Order: sequence, then C-alpha cells, then structure tokens
Amino acid sequence: MDKCSFCGRERKDTNLLIAGVSGHICDSCIEQAHSILDEEFKKKSNFNVSDINLLKPTEIKEFLDQYVIGQNEAKKYLSVAVYNHYKRLTQKSNDEDVEIEKSNIILVGETGTGKTLLARTIARMLHIPFTIVDATVLTEAGYVGEDIESILTRLLQAADYNVEAAEKGIVFIDEIDKIARKSDNPSITRDVSGEGVQQGLLKLLEGSIVNVPPQGGRKHPDQKMIPVNTKNILFICGGAFDGIDRKIGQRLNTKVVGYMASKANDKIDHKNLLQYIAPQDLKSFGLIPEIIGRLPVLTYLQPLDRTILRQILTEPKNSIIKQYEKLFEMDNIKLVFEEDALEFIVDKAIEFKLGARGLRSICETIMIDKMFHSPTQKDKELVITLNYAKDKLEHTNMARLKAS
Ligand code: ADP
Repeated sequence: MDKCSFCGRERKDTNLLIAGVSGHICDSCIEQAHSILDEEFKKKSNFNVSDINLLKPTEIKEFLDQYVIGQNEAKKYLSVAVYNHYKRLTQKSNDEDVEIEKSNIILVGETGTGKTLLARTIARMLHIPFTIVDATVLTEAGYVGEDIESILTRLLQAADYNVEAAEKGIVFIDEIDKIARKSDNPSITRDVSGEGVQQGLLKLLEGSIVNVPPQGGRKHPDQKMIPVNTKNILFICGGAFDGIDRKIGQRLNTKVVGYMASKANDKIDHKNLLQYIAPQDLKSFGLIPEIIGRLPVLTYLQPLDRTILRQILTEPKNSIIKQYEKLFEMDNIKLVFEEDALEFIVDKAIEFKLGARGLRSICETIMIDKMFHSPTQKDKELVITLNYAKDKLEHTNMARLKAS
C-alpha cells in the first residue's frame, strides 16, 4: 500500500500523495518542508553590507551612463558620494580614529531632468531598499498631512520589514524645495509645512533612532513602533528650486566688484547659472542652514536640450523606443521607427514644453492604434513613418497631452 515516506500516512488519509523514484510524499509534508525552506532562506537573506557589490566611482558612473543620458557632473558627484558612503558602512568598528561622515546628497534641477531616475538607478545597482517620498505631503506632527516618520515606514516596507536592510537603504526625498521657509519672518503664521518640516527632517538626516509606525499614518494608533536607526541611511534630496538662478546671479554679480569684476563676469555663462550653485543659494531660497549642513554633497542637473531628448528616446538600456520594440517583438512583429519620426517626437516634446516626461505620452498617442490592432493582424513588420506619427498626433486632443 502507498504511504508517505516521511510521515507514514496512507494515501486515504492524505489529500494528495506524490510518487518519487523510491518513495512518496504527502501534501502536508510538502507544506511543512516548504515552511522549513522559507525559514532557512530568510536566515540566509539576512542583510550584509559586504554583500553589496561595491563598484569604484568610475564604474558607478559607467553603470549610470547605461540608463541616464548626460548629467555628467551630477553622475560624478553621486558616484563619489555613494562610494564613500558604502566605504563608511564597511569601516570596521575598531577604526575609531577617523570617522567618515555621512554624505547625504542634494540634486538641483528642473523637473524631468533625471533626478529621480539617477537615484533609482543607484538603488538598482546596489540592490538595497529604496523609496521615493514627496516632501510636499509632509507636515509637522499633529497637522493634516503625513508625519516625517512615514518616510521610514515606506523604507521599511521596501525592505520587507527587514530593519537591518532598511537601516542601510536609500531614501529619495523629492520636491525638497517645496518645504522652503515661506517667509523670512517665521512668527507671522505657523509654517507647518515649511520650516517645521525641515526641523523634523533634520533629525532623520543627521542620524538618530526614530520610532517608526510599521503601518504608517495615524490610522493605527495602537501599532507597535519599530525603532530604526537612520545613521547609515543615505538621503538623496531633489528639487527644482524654481527661480534659484536669479539668486545665483545676484550672488555672482555682487561678489565680483572692482578691478577684477568685468574679467570674472566675462567667464560666467549666464544662460546656465545652475552650474555655479552653492550652499548659500539654498539658504537664500529658504532652506535652514542646519538642513543644508546635513546635505553636504550639492550638485545640479542641466536642462535637457534637443540632442539629449533625442538620445533619451533610443539610447538608455530601457529607452522608451526599446520598450515598444520589445512589446511588439513579443507578438513576433519587428517594429521600426524612421529617424524623421523620432525627430518629430522630440520636436513636439519641446514645442509642448513637456521635457523627457512628454516623450512617453507622445509615443503612446502615436502607438495606441497599432498596439490595439497589431496583435490580431498578420503583418510581421511595422514601420512608423513621419507621416503616420504626424497623422496620429493631429487627430488627438493636444490639450490632453499637455496636461499629462
Ligand atoms: P525629475 O526627478 O528630475 O523630475 P525624472 O527622473 O522623474 O525627473 O525623469 C522623468 C523621466 O524622464 C524619466 O523616467 C526618464 O524616462 C526621463 N529622463 C529624464 N532625464 C533623463 C536623462 N538624463 N536620461 C534618460 N532619461 C531621462
């Protein structure tokens, strides 16, 4: 009679009995074995910094180059900061003579120039927990909005509640410029989403043990808090800082006076003032000095010009066009974009002032009919010509595109 070789149950006492070469196993033993495996793997997956595949700065930049076009200055700063940060993590605790300080980063650049993409790509490279939070939803504790601690809740969730892994993760705080101090006189009204939030953030940035509500929010008041140490969490902040170029310009103009003034001024590239950004410009914009001090690596992203937008369409490892090609390839269709159709897409993105984000919505509008019909048609090749692209765009509601 067949019975389970593990627990001895007979076939009639099991839901399922699977036969092997020289024995059998029943459904409950399979389940038990599965949970043993789960336990074992969990133990093994315990996070270890030395497991991080730490590349050298030039190698980090090469990795970023595969996904992000241009922005060489920002890539260089990021590569060095990440390299140093992880060197710091692997520093033995007995090397107490020199303590390497944390190198949180602030990226300044117009929206859609690749700030989030850079942070995301770094996290992808390191295989560590990563989360993006929007600073605009944060408010001081007790006010409508999210508490600062919710940032860490997200990171914990990204780390599957592995606290040790979360404590070495990366947090990207977007729109940091939106929590700038609203006025120079803090006593006029309470600035609950500005300076108050900056004070709260300070605690996270400088490294402290924060009690984090695992479910986040204020809806679960009885949840057990998880203490998370932020000492080794790398914070990357990003913001557009609209109008900061004027402050940079003012600073540059007031600084160079006298004999050397005209000479120094000649060298200033007034079209792209962002490249001269310095910590004091962030202060004039309304970030408090303590926050600026905790974001020692300051770099900028350039506005995307025509050439870069054209490259973004096809060159990154997972470029928009490569994604469409892949989608069609899965239906055995070879998709080809003619060069003038690609140029047209770039022209429209510039015309609508949509930047890199617009490239996708324009492509989507051009491709929707083909994506709808092609899988049921017999054609093995599909060529997107300039005329086809023009025709599709002309027949859509442009207002919809502009709003996206
Ligand atoms: P930001 O955070 O600066 O507002 P994102 O990083 O979210 O901008 O960029 C939006 C999208 O635009 C990205 O998902 C990416 O597809 C594209 N993009 C922007 N800049 C670049 C770049 N330099 N290289 C490649 N793609 C880019």
